[in-house]
Amino acid sequence: MKLHIGIIRGDGIGPEIVAEAVKVLEIIGTVFGHELQYEELLLGGASIDAYGIPLTEETVHCAKQCDALLMGSIGGNAKTSPWYKLEPSKRPEAGLLGIRKALNLFANLRPAVLYGELKEACPLKEEITAGGFDLMIMRELTGGLYFGARATQMEDGELTAHDTLTYHAYEIRRIAHRAFEVAQKRRKKVTSVDKANVLDSSRLWRNIVEEVAVAYPDVTLEHMLVDNCAMQLVKDPKQFDVILTENMFGDILSDEASMITGSIGMLASASLNETKFGLYEPSGGSAPDIAGKGIANPIATILSAALMLRFSFDLDREAAAIEHAVERVLQKGYRTIDIMSEGKEQVSTRKMGDLICDEISQIRQQSFE
Ligand code: NAD
Repeated sequence: MKLHIGIIRGDGIGPEIVAEAVKVLEIIGTVFGHELQYEELLLGGASIDAYGIPLTEETVHCAKQCDALLMGSIGGNAKTSPWYKLEPSKRPEAGLLGIRKALNLFANLRPAVLYGELKEACPLKEEITAGGFDLMIMRELTGGLYFGARATQMEDGELTAHDTLTYHAYEIRRIAHRAFEVAQKRRKKVTSVDKANVLDSSRLWRNIVEEVAVAYPDVTLEHMLVDNCAMQLVKDPKQFDVILTENMFGDILSDEASMITGSIGMLASASLNETKFGLYEPSGGSAPDIAGKGIANPIATILSAALMLRFSFDLDREAAAIEHAVERVLQKGYRTIDIMSEGKEQVSTRKMGDLICDEISQIRQQSFE
């Protein structure tokens, strides 16, 4: 298969971690017989340095020609970087918001995986996390409270503020379809999270999700109120497969879910639109405090590349090969500094990438059939 991938190396640790993910993709291409073609795109601080703005029309145009984008994080140190002397609309983060909007990336996927090997990084009790867990939060990214009308004004001599939470049926329908499709590639369960006992937007959410579910009889659907979901995530995270929810609930629940997995350096993410196109990136930022030191954990970016193979290219075996290789390297006791613990061997960013590539090159294709 021919894979046309846009590469956004980004700022800070971005270039270091993306280099390892590209190395892993190359090995996948060799082992499984795919041809990878890359376009280098500039975004964020790197684009400001080159063109004075964080996102150019050229980058948007090139991104649209690609099948998927793989990105390192963007941004710098807000206190010391000259990028933050610019007005907010010209800063690195504006580039990221701009490209998400230009590509209509409305569905944010955040896997929260606790590897048995890293269970000491999890703050939950051992009896809850024994054997690890693997869930996926799917958050609506372009609607809801964060995008509704808001204002602060005087009312009867009192300062009064309001925000508006609006969802259109089409916005719910399109993300529900993506959630069921994602569940079909996993353990076939969707937990739709809302506040339907109080909010009209949640009642509409629930109705539309029910409607969409009919097209996916192989997937089990359950509904859960958001307050209960927040509790269940720390009480019994293993019960979840795909959690589907609106923007603000997803914002909060995905941070809660990432906290119970341990290091930010392990957390992949994807933002999808209605086509197979997606933007894949680590959940963490550009970590300017460790940039250039060769110690950043590349695993989140490597796992983001695995998500890209699974969701943009339907290459499930190849994605599983990467995930399996990561697990094997952790089982063998190799760690970057952020996940280091006693008795393990600390390795650099590059060495971690090499170890994962070595595991993949030992994999025979049929083990994933
Ligand atoms: P951060 O995630 O960059 O760093 C927080 C802490 O986690 C730091 O101590 C860092 O060293 C560590 N860390 C993060 N990723 C790591 C990795 N792969 N390996 C090892 N350690 C890792 O958050 P921050 O410091 O608040 O933000 C730094 C910059 O990143 C800011 O400019 C921010 O706007 C930007 N940012 C970008 C994105 C994105 O590109 N999507 C997301 C979040 C933050």
